[in-house]
Amino acid sequence: MATTLSINPYNGKELKSYKNHTKKEVSEIIDKADKRFYSWRETSFSERKKLMLAAASELKKNKKEYAETIVLEMGKPISQAIAEIEKCAWGCEYYAENAEKHLQNEVIKTDADKSYVSYEPLGVVLAIMPWNYPYWQVFRFAAPALMAGNVAILKHASNVFGSAMNIEKIFKRAGFPENCFTTLLVGSDVIEDIIENEKVKAVTLTGSGPAGSSVASIAGKNIKKTVLELGGSNALVVLKDCDIGKTIETCVMARFQNTGQSCIAGKRLIIDESISEEFVEKMLVKIRELKCGDPMDEETFVGTLAREDLAKDLEKQVNASIKAGAKLAIGGKRQNAYFEPTVLTSVTEKMAVFNEETFGPVLSVTTFKTIEEAIELSNYSKFGLGASIFTKNIAEAEKLAFQFDEGAVFINELVKSDPRLPFGGIKQSGYGRELSEHGIREFVNRKTIFIN
Ligand code: NDP
Repeated sequence: MATTLSINPYNGKELKSYKNHTKKEVSEIIDKADKRFYSWRETSFSERKKLMLAAASELKKNKKEYAETIVLEMGKPISQAIAEIEKCAWGCEYYAENAEKHLQNEVIKTDADKSYVSYEPLGVVLAIMPWNYPYWQVFRFAAPALMAGNVAILKHASNVFGSAMNIEKIFKRAGFPENCFTTLLVGSDVIEDIIENEKVKAVTLTGSGPAGSSVASIAGKNIKKTVLELGGSNALVVLKDCDIGKTIETCVMARFQNTGQSCIAGKRLIIDESISEEFVEKMLVKIRELKCGDPMDEETFVGTLAREDLAKDLEKQVNASIKAGAKLAIGGKRQNAYFEPTVLTSVTEKMAVFNEETFGPVLSVTTFKTIEEAIELSNYSKFGLGASIFTKNIAEAEKLAFQFDEGAVFINELVKSDPRLPFGGIKQSGYGRELSEHGIREFVNRKTIFIN
């Protein structure tokens, strides 16, 4: 009988051992979800809205309980874990209020008496999700999917099965019918069988490139729709006319919140050479002030990484870059799953911290002389999730935005997700969009109706 062990990355202690679902149990769960779909899709938007608002209330009512699971399972500081739960409630409320509008029939004038597009649910959607925002990543998929009339099965990352079980509990407590949302406790080795199951209609994955590529290949073979939200290596492009104080605050937040473990974190500071020395010096002062340590402490801003192996991978990237000529301005040390907030300067595009994704509190600094060079450096990355530009010349920045090969460009702000805006990338960051009207329309059948 396979089991999955959950370990607290802060102290290395075992939290819980979960008994994995067997092949037979997985198949029964999918059957039940499929059966539920046919009654769930008949429910009205107002019925679904009532339940989704109840899920939001449940999240808000018990946010501390849910947030603590995050802290224990992946080391996120408690204040940020509570903020994550609150954001999930916002996502639920947003789709409760807007799903009906997003999915209204769209009338199109043709030679028919009447013709329109009807947005209809697909059925069972499989979500393969990561540990870095163990609730938010799931809710930003589940809220629109359920509101659209789909049902969901979740394969969560193996280190956050407690969060996964809690999410199932939240939907149950909110009053959703059984099997609308079910958590599978399985490893990634059984994903192929699940995707091949004819009752599973589509797959969404948030995670690494290799996981995305494998899942998309299996889904492609089975002609099933996928949405992929993979890694990112966002640039923070700082022009010489920026507001230095505000830009530093934003860049520090962009890189170090969630202990740097975010696909949309600003990982590469690309800065005008003429202000880089002053900027880095002042930024280091702010970084030294970040409180690191026990993630259960409300004052902590930088916790541990989610697993020790991830911290070791980061250490390799940092060491390789130093060996290749990068200069260590601060940090650089690892202790078990903890990695110090780190800044490397004199970074070039040939170095690991620039051309790979760094999933932890490590900021690389590269300078440029011309704006063309800055854009080239930003676009050098194989990822294309987002970029930030910092300048007082908004009109110029808006023009420049067009030249960035990204899913999003934020001007004078860190890249962040917002239920009202589409979220997703291009290049190796994946395809498809989550959130907003665009997200809810990913897992629907756009049915053409023609009446004469
Ligand atoms: P993974 O991509 O391996 O894990 C993410 C999810 O995918 C988990 O549920 C995992 O399950 C599952 N998974 C992994 N491999 C497969 C596969 N072949 N088929 C189907 N499902 C799979 O991320 P890691 O935890 O290993 O982190 C490694 C790196 O990935 C990070 O350092 C970071 O660069 C990137 N990452 C990006 C995220 C993002 O937000 N875009 C989030 C997390 C990681 P299981 O846990 O059981 O293996």
